[in-house]
Amino acid sequence: MSGHIGIFSKENINVAPLLHWSLYALQHRGEVGSGMAVFTGDDVKEIRGNGLVSDIYNEDEINSIVGNKGAAHVKYAFQDETTEDVLLPEVFNINDKKRILSIDGNFLEKSLCRSDLMDMIISENITEHINKLYGAYSIIYMDEDKMIVIRDPWGIKSMVIGKYDNSFVVASETAAIDSIGAEFIRDIAPGEIVIIDKEGLKSKFVENRYERNCIFEFVYISRQDSYINGKSVYETRYNLGRKLAEESPVNADVVIDAPDSGTIAALGYSHESGIQYKEGILKNRYVGRTFILPDQKMREKSVKIKMNPLKRNLDGKRVILVDDSIVRGTTIKNTVKMLRDAGAIEIHVRIACPPVVKSCDLCVDTPSEDNLIGANMTVEETCKEIGADSLAYLSLDSLVNACGGNRYCKHCFDGNYPIEVKNGYNLQRCGCR
Ligand code: 5GP
Ligand code: MG
Repeated sequence: MSGHIGIFSKENINVAPLLHWSLYALQHRGEVGSGMAVFTGDDVKEIRGNGLVSDIYNEDEINSIVGNKGAAHVKYAFQDETTEDVLLPEVFNINDKKRILSIDGNFLEKSLCRSDLMDMIISENITEHINKLYGAYSIIYMDEDKMIVIRDPWGIKSMVIGKYDNSFVVASETAAIDSIGAEFIRDIAPGEIVIIDKEGLKSKFVENRYERNCIFEFVYISRQDSYINGKSVYETRYNLGRKLAEESPVNADVVIDAPDSGTIAALGYSHESGIQYKEGILKNRYVGRTFILPDQKMREKSVKIKMNPLKRNLDGKRVILVDDSIVRGTTIKNTVKMLRDAGAIEIHVRIACPPVVKSCDLCVDTPSEDNLIGANMTVEETCKEIGADSLAYLSLDSLVNACGGNRYCKHCFDGNYPIEVKNGYNLQRCGCR
């Protein structure tokens, strides 16, 4: 996962500030670095940097960029990071014309580099190329005359389109469209190739199209104020919590969340169970990412700087702790210990999705199976390992139903990829994230 946005205008507006603001609304999709590329006449102004959006861009520089079309990207910290991984968008010069390319995704191809991809997009046969381009991806291409936006034929990646006055905005999530005061129009369909130029918007569709959006977008990835396939992420997470309470009730004094990813499901759990929701852990929003700290001892200490238990709501209490997911098990284990140290007398962990049992190379970049606690331990063993009094996960059926039925890729839970992985085809990142 990563995130990106593109704005194409024929009006006399400057898109750099809009791109900048919208990156804040996409920050959760990638914290490792960010880039922006804006057409300024025939040239392209590029800004890139490592770290958070707030660290990279300088307001005066952004405000000085004159240009009405551009794209911006936030990059996720992938596990197999290579030095070839560039910060997108990338700028190409082909036939004396500057072109911007931004990608969120991975490709299942024998070999593919970004310039091959560029050739496909600018070719007459773009539709046939995309029909055969296996993978989970969304692509934003732009030249001075047009923007082309592509969503993979399986629809694994989300992509939405909106309007800012007379300008078109495309983004990984609706939250980015909202953030600049643009109006959401619709989701881009799986296998749709949207072409926006001064005439307006046209679409082409590849021949073989499926509906297999990544279900983890609802579980964890997307921001709660976003909408996926017309469904509110907030409402869906709330319903996951309600269903979890119905499936796995337990007597307790208080429902608390693992901040912030478990908050909405915890509210839903509290609603359904009638057990009061209280804040149990205070998350300090001003602390940056932990892994940039220089040594292990400091990293361990920084956890306490980042999260502090609210002893008042925990001491002597039977606690239901709700989180969105367990991957390695590290977060929940640390959280259970923190609650125990703060005086909780019982800790019942409830997880708003099934155990993650398969590594995902296609979309979410989950760790290898050896590192997934759900792939190596039973629920009972996991409960013991994390030090909880009880542990229950939401069933896959309930997750799928809450998300609107069987139209999702749920490989991380059931091991089924929606794309047949052909012999000899390897996952290719081509530096394209
Ligand atoms: P664990 O510590 O079990 O490996 O990770 C689970 C926690 O990380 C959960 O609280 C969840 O909110 C969060 N999480 C789940 N999936 C991802 C992911 O793909 N990337 C990141 N950075 N966090 C994740
Ligand atoms: Mg979390």
